[in-house]
Amino acid sequence: MIEIENLEKSFGAVRAVDGVSFRADDGRITGLLGPNGAGKSTTLRILYTVLRADGGSARVDGHDVAEAPLAVRRSMGVLPHGTGIYPRLTARENIAYYGRLNGLRGAALAARVDSLIEMLEIEEFSERRAKGFSQGQRIKVALARSLVHDPRNVVLDEPTNGLDVMATRALRELIRKLRADGRCVLFSSHVMQEVAALCDDIVIIAHGRVVARGSPEALRAEMGQQDLEEVFVRAIERGAQ
Ligand code: ADP
Ligand code: MG
Repeated sequence: MIEIENLEKSFGAVRAVDGVSFRADDGRITGLLGPNGAGKSTTLRILYTVLRADGGSARVDGHDVAEAPLAVRRSMGVLPHGTGIYPRLTARENIAYYGRLNGLRGAALAARVDSLIEMLEIEEFSERRAKGFSQGQRIKVALARSLVHDPRNVVLDEPTNGLDVMATRALRELIRKLRADGRCVLFSSHVMQEVAALCDDIVIIAHGRVVARGSPEALRAEMGQQDLEEVFVRAIERGAQ
């Protein structure tokens, strides 16, 4: 479970995150939706402990990101912006490398890597070097790597950016699998359709503030709008007032 309370972060005069609060529950997919520059990545970076907040708090399974960053990292898998996999290693080696960094060795490591390769349908290219992989293949390897320590919480920052229709579908299926395992999944997007297709809960942010949140149905009812695209636009406009 992820709990964010009154989170604040400025870069000079820019208030990137301006008092954001929300919760993402286990066994659910929560979408952090907002236009470019809304503060999604900044919020997520604070959550996965590469950035420090100016104020407020964030907790992952009860561990505070500022007080217990190691415990937070242990309980969270992260797919950041840009996958950063190693081009000279094969898909399998990329995943195994992260397994070793997380303390896995020998037969346990091999078994874990095999099961991730199977789960993410990487078999076909598992022994190829990552250089030249399509964006979809890169995302799969990066996701496998982020799941190597079997985290209860998974955070993905705009994971469908640059994916074609088939790869997007495959990724959605994977995200649903993570939910079926009872994990807490939090992902960001600037595309309402993307979030609507997948999420149980939606948190809409604009200018560093939460402007609406709830299930797709609750948001439709609150805004008196069937079309979720329209809900998104209205929520952003309302937040700007
Ligand atoms: P999103 O991910 O929703 O597109 P970001 O969290 O990346 O938004 O950015 C929110 C705001 O903070 C933007 O105005 C952006 O320019 C600014 N920002 C983000 N990171 C930095 C940084 N490292 N230095 C200065 N400004 C930043
Ligand atoms: Mg971003």
